Amino acid sequence: MAIRARPGLKRATIPFNELSLAGREVELVTEAIEAGRIGASGPQSLRAGEILREEVGAERVFLTTSCTDALEMAALMLDLGPKDTVILPSFTFVSTALAFARQGAKLLFADIEEETLGIDPKSVEDLLDDGVRAVIPVHYAGVACDLDGVERVLMGTDIDLVEDNAQGLFGRYRGKPLGSFGRFSATSFHETKNLVCGEGGAFFVNREEDVDRAHVLYDKGTNRQAFMLGLVDKYSWTDLGSSFGMADLLAAYLLAQLEERATIMTRRRSIFEGYDALLAPHADSLGYRTAMVPSDRHQTFHMYYVLLEDNATRNRVLASLREHGIQATFHYVPLHDAPGAERHLAKRTDCPVTDDISGRLLRLPFFNGLTKAEVAYVAETFLDVVAG
Ligand SMILES: *Cc1c(COP(=O)(O)O)cnc(C)c1O
Repeated sequence: MAIRARPGLKRATIPFNELSLAGREVELVTEAIEAGRIGASGPQSLRAGEILREEVGAERVFLTTSCTDALEMAALMLDLGPKDTVILPSFTFVSTALAFARQGAKLLFADIEEETLGIDPKSVEDLLDDGVRAVIPVHYAGVACDLDGVERVLMGTDIDLVEDNAQGLFGRYRGKPLGSFGRFSATSFHETKNLVCGEGGAFFVNREEDVDRAHVLYDKGTNRQAFMLGLVDKYSWTDLGSSFGMADLLAAYLLAQLEERATIMTRRRSIFEGYDALLAPHADSLGYRTAMVPSDRHQTFHMYYVLLEDNATRNRVLASLREHGIQATFHYVPLHDAPGAERHLAKRTDCPVTDDISGRLLRLPFFNGLTKAEVAYVAETFLDVVAG
């Protein structure tokens, strides 16, 4: 197929992701530098953390150096070790597993639901045994997984829920913010996410009784927070912990993004709807499907994916799009049979839906600066390529 002309397109290739400033990033970073406060727990962190706490309705929020770090805080808070097992989806980023494996916990990989690509409560139910201490759902593409289903399976147990909400910040399930369902939750401000600051994340504590210890783990295992509040007269090493805190230099950048969160979300919504208007009508006739968002969920417009007919078609379409200068991409390679998972498994599990979806999924370029003309070019090229 000939390369299509691109009237009005300013880029030779359309990247999968591209950074753009939302507003006062440079101003606030400069402010942090001029104030001489660039380390963790500074004024910009406090402001950014307060916005996040209010939006999610959490008890306390700690800005971290990454979502991976926030998940590690969760694993530490739960004192997980080699006798403990966590259940998590196989269809997720490696960090969801790594944070718990690193703590010595054993992993049980669950399969996902066809509809939302979130963890399947039935699969969780099948895997439950006496060693299970936590379940880690992921809200894939910022669409809530079946949280009611998961909670129903866990009812009457003392198994904790930890949400990997890297993609679901500002999403909702039956009206309630994602990130507020788990005992803990984690989100990401990695440069590929909806809101960014280079590298960064946040750890959400949803129970009052966990707040004091979270401060200690966050402050490298010391009771620094109690000291700052004048509750103890010196501060010392009291527990485990690490250097989890996000630098105020980056928190300043994040705060600027948070100030513009409504604009960013509106922008992403219009990109998603732009794609959907062009692609959903042809899905049946061309043999692919687009994302399904159940009516009781507010998604976050984190990405636009399509599921092609089979793996060969996905790979062919991906390669053709790239020839047309469109950096589409696949997504997660399943974790349940990844080489790195082997020695951390509680036992081997089969995840047939994950295997199938992983082979057929394709993500289109999606970032805040993507123009209407580019969305149209990508969508039209996709339609041509799929039709062959
Ligand atoms: C991006 C992502 C992470 C990791 O986030 P970092 O901030 O890069 O550590 C973890 N889980 C999921 C589901 C993600 O999408």
